[in-house]
Amino acid sequence: MADTTLMSIPGQVDPVPVARDITPRADGRVDLIGLPRPRIAELFAEAGLDPRQAKLRAKQVYHWLYHRGATSFEAMTDIAKAMRPWLAERFVIGRPDVVEAQHSSDGTRKWLLSTADGHEFEMVFIPDADRGTLCVSSQVGCTLNCRFCHTGTMRLVRNLTPGEIVGQVMLARDALGEWPRGRMDVAEVEDEAEYTADGRLLTNIVMMGMGEPLYNFDNVRDALRLVMDGDGLALSKRRITLSTSGVVPMMARCGEEIGVNLAVSLHAVTKDVRDEIVPLNRKYGIEELLAACAAYPGASNVRRITFEYVMLKDKNDSDEDARELVRLLRKFDLPAKVNLIPFNPWPGAPYECSSPERIRRFSDIVFEAGISAPVRTPRGRDIDAACGQLKTTAQKMSRAQRDREAQAAAGREAAEAAPSPAAAP
Ligand code: SAH
Ligand code: SF4
Repeated sequence: MADTTLMSIPGQVDPVPVARDITPRADGRVDLIGLPRPRIAELFAEAGLDPRQAKLRAKQVYHWLYHRGATSFEAMTDIAKAMRPWLAERFVIGRPDVVEAQHSSDGTRKWLLSTADGHEFEMVFIPDADRGTLCVSSQVGCTLNCRFCHTGTMRLVRNLTPGEIVGQVMLARDALGEWPRGRMDVAEVEDEAEYTADGRLLTNIVMMGMGEPLYNFDNVRDALRLVMDGDGLALSKRRITLSTSGVVPMMARCGEEIGVNLAVSLHAVTKDVRDEIVPLNRKYGIEELLAACAAYPGASNVRRITFEYVMLKDKNDSDEDARELVRLLRKFDLPAKVNLIPFNPWPGAPYECSSPERIRRFSDIVFEAGISAPVRTPRGRDIDAACGQLKTTAQKMSRAQRDREAQAAAGREAAEAAPSPAAAP
């Protein structure tokens, strides 16, 4: 088993630093997945190639790894035959381990994955008529404890490394059989209508799996750079969305250093309610968050910011809330769309989902103000793949076990409290 440094748990507010870019392996070989080209060249030089050779080989290997999805050095046909075993003795091409793969009746797929050192996390693929979206995790667990989110009930185990993040996308391409056979550069300005013409299933990525991506900024950035590189996975930044619960100090860097679309988990329009359901609000309030959105590099009427709003019965779903949402978005002059997410319940959740009529009314009020506010259809509910339901099976089992134990204990208490037949009058 590889040696792991557990991340220190930083409390609710500060980014979690991660120093390591290489996951150590028991056999001493180095996993190249997650490393950028210059780092691969450095490792080749350290292993004994002269600098020019190292650079050339790194360029070739990088292309095979990220652009073509090769999983063995043998497949790298433009690298000299004698060189391939030399590479295989020193390096590996990893993927997260698949613990379990599930298929929903609506086509959604969920994978329970494991890191080399045995931490489990999840990834979800959601196919639609015109696109296929991969929902990628950034952390094992989450420090933020949003009250409606199942992942928030786990403690943070650790940040995922760049290799474990980009590895999810690579594994999805393996599973969907979607590695290109030739070059596939990203067009500077993409025509949305033409993009799916090559029949690809995985067209979009959302950083909406387990964890808060802006608390693992460096690793998420490094992974997404490999995804966006034309010689890497070659997915346009316009097709990638990062969702944050509102880590204000990292938002500008997200726009500058990653440049992907931004989604913000707003979920409430008053301090009291947002403090309760998204506790990070106590640190970065609504106005501060919306000001950071207004300043988000790259946001425009063409690339609008998505505001996610989970519909919780009698909590945040009144007409007044909808009107306040419109007022706030106008006040900050935000190029915005609102995604209304029906709350996905989980065992023991403290909220209920708003009624369909309430959600429709809320949506109408926002639409009537000229802001798009579609209601998101929950997907993959039968396999617990919907928003906020991601939590590893092992954790769910222990919870189910705990619930059973609690029930049994409550039963015992009730039996003890009940008057015994002998004592009854
Ligand atoms: N940590 C990031 C990204 C992961 S959560 C964030 O909070 O934005 C992805 C989305 O699912 C967020 O908008 C989150 O608030 C929402 N979500 C979490 N639990 C949910 C639930 N039980 N029902 C519906 N949406 C939920
Ligand atoms: Fe973490 Fe996002 Fe869940 Fe909040 S909603 S607990 S930030 S994963």
